[in-house]
Amino acid sequence: MKNNNQRVLITGAAGFLGSHLCDRFLLEGYQVIGMDNFITGHKDNLDHLSDNENFQFIEHDVTEFVSLDGPLDHILHFASPASPIDYIKIPIQTLKVGSLGTHNLLGLAKAKGARILIASTSEVYGDPLVHPQTENYFGNVNTIGPRGVYDEAKRFQESLSMAYHRVHGLDTRIARIFNTYGPRMRLNDGRVVPAFIGQALRGENLTIFGDGMQTRSFCYVDDLVEGILRLLLSDYTDPVNLGNPDEITIKAFAEEILHRSKSDCKLVYLEMSENDPLQRQPDIGLAKKLLDWQPIIPRNEGIEYTFNYFTALPKEQLLRKEHKDFTARIKQ
Ligand code: NAD
Ligand code: UDP
Repeated sequence: MKNNNQRVLITGAAGFLGSHLCDRFLLEGYQVIGMDNFITGHKDNLDHLSDNENFQFIEHDVTEFVSLDGPLDHILHFASPASPIDYIKIPIQTLKVGSLGTHNLLGLAKAKGARILIASTSEVYGDPLVHPQTENYFGNVNTIGPRGVYDEAKRFQESLSMAYHRVHGLDTRIARIFNTYGPRMRLNDGRVVPAFIGQALRGENLTIFGDGMQTRSFCYVDDLVEGILRLLLSDYTDPVNLGNPDEITIKAFAEEILHRSKSDCKLVYLEMSENDPLQRQPDIGLAKKLLDWQPIIPRNEGIEYTFNYFTALPKEQLLRKEHKDFTARIKQ
């Protein structure tokens, strides 16, 4: 099989994106090492790989020194809380994983001569004043707002990565990922896709924050994973937007979910959270040109796969609404 001598380390492997990346890199013939401390992820996401001889899992907090035996070709640094209610609950861990964690992984990449791709985010654009967002837009972020812990950690992560590239000649890649959804998201992680699907499946009203006129552009996970793979294998070191430009208001999205679930639930309007971006849509011109990549899974299809995944979950899980308790795992 191709690539079978290449080893890739994936941090955040027990999370939503990390677990899909593990699957894809194994499929491509890589030896995959997954690393996670389970702070927002879950081992269930990796159970299906337990007998795979090309997969190894290491439970580790990447804000602590990371050491690994043997050669390493690539690192995909995806460890970080990613949902607003997660990172607002664990702000210090979020800042640490973006800063100290990234520093440790850049150091590991340097020691091993490995290429490293870091998972950055559309949040580096904050509440954007430019629409759609292009890579050369510098962003509009409130450093001290509740979302600042995530946005600034990711901005620092990008800066540190570029510094290692410039000073040490490290082979770095920066993916600016826009809202991505699909199977293995936590039903109660607070992000809008699992939140609305969970509410619809439980027969509850869908909670819209603000007037629902804010927009997002949702990318199905398989499309994103394809983009990550192509970016890693490219030779481009500046940031690249990866996302689906199909923009929709949150209200219209809620109506789509109600329609799909054939539920007679209603929309309820709650207070908008602080610094919630009003509009977000990736300009993916660069990714198209550079990687010959664009998403191919339309929202209705991706939402169908996601609905099916959540519908098949055990009923207790569907009914469990409380947010994950992080306290046992926090060492800050
Ligand atoms: P997730 O919460 O499902 O996964 C994150 C994983 O990182 C979890 O398994 C968690 O336990 C792990 N983790 C967190 N801190 C850690 C630490 N200190 N040491 C080891 N593991 C740690 O979130 P996700 O949606 O899969 O996001 C993955 C990455 O992609 C994040 O870096 C996130 O910022 C980025 N991203 C995601 C999206 C999206 O829409 N899903 C958009 C932009 C960027
Ligand atoms: N949102 C909502 N109801 C919910 C969860 C989220 O209206 O129950 C809104 C949220 O205010 C934001 C958008 O949906 O405007 C996307 O939120 P999410 O947390 O998924 O990601 P973000 O893009 O804000 O990081």
